[in-house]
Order: sequence, then structure tokens, then C-alpha cells
Amino acid sequence: THFGYRSVPKNAKTSMVGSVFSDVASKYDVMNDLMSLGLHRLWKDLFVMSLAPTADMRILDVAGGTGDIAFRIVEKKRKEKDYNTKLSENRVEPVVVVDINENMLQVGKERAKERGYSEKEILFVHGNAEKLPAASETVDAYVISFGMRNVTDPETALMEGFRVLRTGGKFHMLEFAKVQNDVLQYIYDRYSFSVIPLIGQVVANNRNAYEYLVESIRQFPSQEEFTKLMINAGFQQVSYRNFHQGIVAQYSGFKL
Ligand code: SAM
Repeated sequence: THFGYRSVPKNAKTSMVGSVFSDVASKYDVMNDLMSLGLHRLWKDLFVMSLAPTADMRILDVAGGTGDIAFRIVEKKRKEKDYNTKLSENRVEPVVVVDINENMLQVGKERAKERGYSEKEILFVHGNAEKLPAASETVDAYVISFGMRNVTDPETALMEGFRVLRTGGKFHMLEFAKVQNDVLQYIYDRYSFSVIPLIGQVVANNRNAYEYLVESIRQFPSQEEFTKLMINAGFQQVSYRNFHQGIVAQYSGFKL
């Protein structure tokens, strides 16, 4: 396409993404802290805050990995008054984490158990964002955090998101984006091309994988480009907001 994110050959991208997340599943969380200097926690908190999840909301956390977003959603749901009554009456919708990588799901399941979340609150399902294991028009909110960049064909994933959402349902995405400030961009490039592969080498023993990740961030569509893809997929009232000058951005759109 004109956006260029396909210049990593598709099968290379798919197998690279597989190896990255299989190799680093157990180190994934500490890697995030190291690489983002802890900022990913703040971005995820802000992201989930804006979802305003309620106990009965049916939420699909696509490419949900080890559960960072889903756990935050469960915590928000738990704040609702009468939550425990609703839970015992089966009126709480579990957050459904869908991920293509069994290792990531396994780490997620273990973390969920440690935190005392039941299967009434969170489910881990193996599946592909390009062919979601969900019926059409059944989902209130589609959520994808740092996942779209790894999907082989984002346009297909967007169409799938549109398919599973009910009318009135909302799409939410958190993803690396285009930095809006030249000075920050300069520092950010230096950091990503030197420090991140080094951390990948030392901590996860996989330098190539992290070089790939940096490249995938650079090649991902900008805020303006991605909102166009969302509109092409049928979403309305499409908008985005930048965090930290566009290091990451949050996108949203409705199926109306
Ligand atoms: N959402 C989590 C978070 O914010 O911490 C995990 C993000 S992690 C960077 C990206 C995840 O996308 C990995 O768990 C990977 O297995 C998953 N993934 C990659 N391609 C996918 C696909 N086609 N369908 C579903 N999940 C996919």
C-alpha cells in the first residue's frame, strides 16, 4: 500500500513476530518497563481509563498478550458498586483476551491466577486478529494495545474488528505513532536504534528481534494515515490523541 508498512515482507514479519513473543514471553513485562522507562504503565492506565468499562460490557482485548490491558479493565469493573452481586448472578461479562501466541497466553493465565481473577472475569483465547474467534455484532468494545503493529495485515484486522462490534460499539487502539516534535524525534531515534537492541540483547538474548521491533514502529502508519485506514474499514467519528508528543497515540472510532 501507499503507507509502506508492508515493506517488511509478510511472511518474514509473521515469523519474526512469532519468534519475538515466544522467546520473550516470560521477560515481556520487564522488557516493557526497561524499554519505555516505565511509561507504558502510564499510557495503559490512561487508555483504560478512557474506555470507562462497566461490569456488563463485553470487551475483546485483541493481541492481549500477558494481560496488561485486560487486568486493568477487570480492576475498573470491580470498582462498580454491586459488583460481587453481579458476579454471583453471572451478570459480569468476562474480558476476553485473544492472542496468537500460546506462550504469551500462558504467562497471562498464570498472572491472572496469581491475582485471583476467576474465569467469570477474564478468559484467554487463542486466536488471530485477522480472523477473530467471535460472532459478528456481539462485542461492545474492541481493544488492541501495542498489537496492531504486529498483525500481518492491519487492514484485515480492522475489518474483523468492525465485523465483531455491535452497532454502537467502539474500537480502541493504543499504538506507537509518529513523534510530533523534531528534537524529541532525534533523541527517540538515537535511543531506539541503539539502546533498545542492546537491552534486547542483554535481557532477552535476542538482539535481532528488537531491531525488528524498532523497525516495525518506524514503518507503522502515522496518526493521519491510520485514521484513514479506520475510516476505510467503516468506522465513524474517528479520532486520536497523542501521548508524549506522539510517541504513542490512542485511536477510537464507532461502528454506527
Ligand atoms: N496488548 C498487550 C500489551 O499491551 O501489553 C500485548 C502487546 S504485545 C507488544 C503484542 C502481542 O500481539 C503479542 O502477544 C503477540 O503474540 C500478539 N499478536 C501478534 N500478531 C497477532 C495476531 N495476528 N493476532 C493476535 N495476536 C497477535
